[in-house]
Amino acid sequence: MDEIKHLKNDFSNPPRSLGSLKKFPEIRRRSTETIQVNLGYRCNQACSHCHVDAGPNRTEQMTLATLNLVFKYIDKWKIPILDLTGGAPELNPYFRRTVEQAVTRGIHVIDRCNLTILSEVGQKELARFLAENGVHVVASLPCHSKTNVDRQRGVGIFELSIEGIRKLNAQGYGVAGSGLELDLVYNPQGPSLPPDGEALTKEYKQVLAEYDVFFNRLVTITNMPINRFKHQLEREGLLNGYMDVLRSGFVEKNLNKVMCRALLSVSWDGHVFDCDFNQMLDLPLGAANRAIHLSELVDLPLLNSPIAVDTHCFGCTAGAGSSCSGALTD
Ligand code: SF4
Ligand code: SF4
Repeated sequence: MDEIKHLKNDFSNPPRSLGSLKKFPEIRRRSTETIQVNLGYRCNQACSHCHVDAGPNRTEQMTLATLNLVFKYIDKWKIPILDLTGGAPELNPYFRRTVEQAVTRGIHVIDRCNLTILSEVGQKELARFLAENGVHVVASLPCHSKTNVDRQRGVGIFELSIEGIRKLNAQGYGVAGSGLELDLVYNPQGPSLPPDGEALTKEYKQVLAEYDVFFNRLVTITNMPINRFKHQLEREGLLNGYMDVLRSGFVEKNLNKVMCRALLSVSWDGHVFDCDFNQMLDLPLGAANRAIHLSELVDLPLLNSPIAVDTHCFGCTAGAGSSCSGALTD
C-alpha cells in the first residue's frame, strides 16, 4: 500500500518542462479500453524509418511471466481490447498462446502485422490462425506505390506485402460479410499532414484492386516528430517548420479523442507508458519521475490521472487528428 501511495505521489508531479515551445494542454485519463503490448523488437524486416529500431538481430522479447502479468491486469480492469505490436509480434514465442488466451476471454485482439511475416519460414499457418481466432489485422502499407514502399521498407517488400494481403484475403480478411477485418496503415512520406482519408482510401482501393487484393479501412497516421524522423528533419533543417505545421493545425476537440486517454502502453519488459510514442521517448506513465512497472499498477485505478505530454503530442491533435486507429475526426 505504501508503494501505491508513493506511486500516486509520482503521478501528481507536474509534467516535465516543455522548454520555450508552446505548451500542449494538460490532459487526463479516462477508463482504459486498450492495452497495447510490445511483444519484442525482433522483426523479419529492418526498415530505415523504424521507430523502435527493430530487426532480425534484436533479442528483446516479452517473457511469459510478463505476459501473465498483462492478463492479470486485463482481468482486474476488464480491458476489452488487446493490441499486439513489436517488432513483428508474431515472432514472440508466446504470440499464439497470447491470442488464444485473449480470445477465450472474449477480448478483441489487434495484430499489428507487417504483412511480410506471413511469408516467413515457420509462419505458413499464420493467416489461418489469425482468421480462426478472429484477430483484427492492422497492417502497415505506407504507400500503394512499389517504388515508395521499397524505398522506405526495403527492396522486394511491396511484392511480399501484396502476397501477405493475398494470404489474408484467402482466409476471408477484407471480404464483405466475413467479419474478418484487415486495415492498412498509411503515413505521409515527409513532413506534412496526411491527406483526406476518404479520397486516399478510394485511391488505395483502386490501385490494390489491380493486384486483386482487398482491405477494409485505410488508417491514416501523422508522422510524429520523434526519434529517427525527428533527426531526419533536423538534418534537413525542416524540424521547426514541421512543428509549426503541427502546432498551427491544433484542433481542440481532438483532445477528447487522443488515444492515450483510454490506452495503456506496455513495453517488452513490462514498463508502462501513456502511449507508444511516450514509450519510445522513455517518458514514464503520468509524467512520473521514474520508470513504472505494470506490476505496480494492478491494484491502482488510473482514472483521471494525468498524462505525460510534450511537444510531440501536437502530432496527435493537428488537422483531422491521429492515433493508432487513424484520424480522430472520422
Ligand atoms: S516492419 Fe515495422 S517493426 Fe519491423 S522493422 Fe519495419 S517498421 Fe520496424
Ligand atoms: S503523443 Fe501520446 S501522450 Fe501525446 S497526445 Fe498523442 S497519444 Fe497522447
